[in-house]
Amino acid sequence: MIFEYCVLNIEYFKMSGLYLHIPFCKQACSYCDFYFVTRHHQKQDFVDALIKEIESYRNSRITKEPIKSVYFGGGTPSLLNANQFEQILEAIAKTFKLAVEELTVEMNPDDVKPGYLGDLKSLGINRASMGVQSFDESLLAFMHRAHNRAEALKSLEYLSTAGFDNFTVDLIYGNPGQSLEVLESDIETLLSFNPPHISAYSLTVEPHTRLGKQVELGRIIAPEDDQVATHFDTIVSRLADAGIHQYEVSNYAKPGHEAVHNSAYWSHQNYLGLGPAAHSLWWEADRAQAQRWRNESDLKSYINDPINQKVEIETLNLTSLAEERLMLGLRTKQGVSFSELQSRYQYLLSEKQRDYLNKRQVDGFVMHNEDSIALTPDGLKIADSIILDLITSA
Ligand code: SF4
Repeated sequence: MIFEYCVLNIEYFKMSGLYLHIPFCKQACSYCDFYFVTRHHQKQDFVDALIKEIESYRNSRITKEPIKSVYFGGGTPSLLNANQFEQILEAIAKTFKLAVEELTVEMNPDDVKPGYLGDLKSLGINRASMGVQSFDESLLAFMHRAHNRAEALKSLEYLSTAGFDNFTVDLIYGNPGQSLEVLESDIETLLSFNPPHISAYSLTVEPHTRLGKQVELGRIIAPEDDQVATHFDTIVSRLADAGIHQYEVSNYAKPGHEAVHNSAYWSHQNYLGLGPAAHSLWWEADRAQAQRWRNESDLKSYINDPINQKVEIETLNLTSLAEERLMLGLRTKQGVSFSELQSRYQYLLSEKQRDYLNKRQVDGFVMHNEDSIALTPDGLKIADSIILDLITSA
């Protein structure tokens, strides 16, 4: 086992997360606008480049902080073999200080077999994120997913066989043509596998995707807001009945199974993104500002020169960081505390913002007291508009 799960007694805000973007997919899903390529002949070249990028951080200020979570996302990380994961994890272990509680790999159902999952587990990977999206054959075909219903069901069985008791499953709702009955059937099927965590996303129509073009041409009609809202309500209530509670707009967990890595994004911890198109956020040592950057979305360029890919480097001041913290924090059940806004960001809500919150509290969308602010379940349904109004009313 490469990774030992030693939890150090270190202040939480001095821990950080590592994200690795694995940019390969079998085929383009119709709705997806992530960065990926569908040709795979350069997989090992990519792994070698990724290792160079990891090693380039050796003895830097970034490796002074212990890593609390590692997340392989994509693309499709499960297109790498166990040996390639081992090479990457070894480089991470040699470069970073580790206090890893959660090591997640995103997987697609058509890639996994018990032997492969067992190999990943023996490397220390302790959480699987399975991209099921739906169990419905026609919806899977509509989304142009590479897997079918039988593979989705098998993949969840295999997780159990391989002893992955910590896993999450992605579901998509609000699909054009997706009836409430189909969604309910998806939820019931998923619950039969006793998942500790579920991420449920409303299908978003992105302009440069195949779905976006079809909607633009009028060949597909995006579902009405009311229908999407009914899907959302159904997910929240049925999962709650099963003891899987919404803790963020799109995330649901049994108590104690909330995602460590994503929670670090929402609470504004440092994170380093490696691989093409990966994003990073890192606070300066005096915590008076932070830097954000991303790597170029270009596999060829990445393989040629993995350590000089940073673009869109920006320095964020405390006010913009505070607004972002509000945006992220108010999408979580926990909300944001005023004392944190003040101590970390020197940010105080204005009189106008407090008035706005009082009004929304009367409407039943916001809960706030002297120390904290959070959205109610009804508020979470319209989180984006409440957050925008709150920030712009400053
Ligand atoms: S597998 Fe994931 S990353 Fe790849 S195209 Fe489909 S949704 Fe996008």
